[in-house]
Amino acid sequence: MTDKPRVLLVHPPIYDFSAYDFWMKPYGLLRVAGRLRGLCQLQSFDFLCSDAADAPPGGTWKRDAWKRDAWGRGPIPAEGTAKPEIFSFLPRYYRRFGIPRESFRAWLEGRPAFDFALVQTGMTYWYLGLVETIEEIRRRSRETRIVLGGCYASLCPEHARSLGADLVVRGGELDPLWRLLEREALPEQRPFWEAYAAPAYGVMKLADGCPFRCSYCASGRMHPGYAARPLDSVLEEWERLRSMGAAHIAFYDDALLFQPEKVLIPFLNAVLARGTGGLRFHTPNALHARLLTAELASLMVRAGFASFYLGAESISPEWLETSGAKVFPEELSKATEILKNTGVPGSSITAYLLLGHPAHSPEMIESSMRYIHRLGIRIMLAEYSPVPGTADGERYGPAVAWQEPLWHNKTAFTAKILGWGEVCRLKHLCQQLNQPE
Ligand code: SF4
Repeated sequence: MTDKPRVLLVHPPIYDFSAYDFWMKPYGLLRVAGRLRGLCQLQSFDFLCSDAADAPPGGTWKRDAWKRDAWGRGPIPAEGTAKPEIFSFLPRYYRRFGIPRESFRAWLEGRPAFDFALVQTGMTYWYLGLVETIEEIRRRSRETRIVLGGCYASLCPEHARSLGADLVVRGGELDPLWRLLEREALPEQRPFWEAYAAPAYGVMKLADGCPFRCSYCASGRMHPGYAARPLDSVLEEWERLRSMGAAHIAFYDDALLFQPEKVLIPFLNAVLARGTGGLRFHTPNALHARLLTAELASLMVRAGFASFYLGAESISPEWLETSGAKVFPEELSKATEILKNTGVPGSSITAYLLLGHPAHSPEMIESSMRYIHRLGIRIMLAEYSPVPGTADGERYGPAVAWQEPLWHNKTAFTAKILGWGEVCRLKHLCQQLNQPE
């Protein structure tokens, strides 16, 4: 090994029925890589992005194949692929999303072999993309040590180990990684945004974890506690993204509005003092509507928040009672009123509703949709996926699910619970309600 080991960072392709670049970046991987800056020779390959600094040749790589909406999001080029047998009941095409496998192969062959490959994992049921990635890295060099980290690696470590990686990192337990690399990592640093030449958007977190424990959510399994990040670190990240020309930043925080006087307010005041530079903020991980105040909403709008996603999940009292009572309907209604009074149009406010949760009946879903529609905001149906180790995952996950993570697939699980015809009916109703009047 040279003085500075060659380390490859990979954001793998996705195998699923659908996938969309809804502000999707391998943020955990970029944060880990930031701590290795200067200690290793870092190069990255992001299968799901057209902005990478080190472009692979040809195929769907070409920038014009990747369309973006006004907020930087867009579809990911895909090709049909064989549907796993367990999904045979579902009348949907199964696809592989991302830069073609051959492009990755050619890219690897055009470079000296890497000493290490750090691979970000996402949803547990996306592991077929890891199988492909590991095969290609091994094909190039059997000496490369492969490390898996992220959601799948943390939630299904035993299964992840069966894929043949050299190390599986769980959550934020990074000491085994530093030992494998034989490097004393730096304390938290700016994420490795050098991986992207001109990102249409960036992502950030002001804090890790969430103080709440909703029965269906994986946040507590990924981060056992809640910890705000130092203000100077997050401001440096924001400055870096702004200087790279990113027009949008999506917050990956699970609890962006928690303890605002210590976290969000100081950050936004600093942003306003330095000048927003026209950068727009988004909240895809959902805001906790109960914690939104008029003062906070006003500050957020002045600092450039352009979209507000609210975590509603359901308005059914019965369902809320058993799931952690995150937000009651009147709190959702109040948050909506606050946002609208601050000048945010209803079309920029979206409430998430859970679809396919076994205790959330079609009647509950439909009445929740109609309630949100009456608030004059948009509805987004979020298909439920049973997450190992969560209260609901253990309660409702089929016994086989923990051996075969493909069973966690949100499209398949939702169709199993509701029936495909009912899923289509509810999605169609959602589309109709979201039509501008
Ligand atoms: S659903 Fe939201 S509020 Fe509930 S535990 Fe998860 S991140 Fe926290």
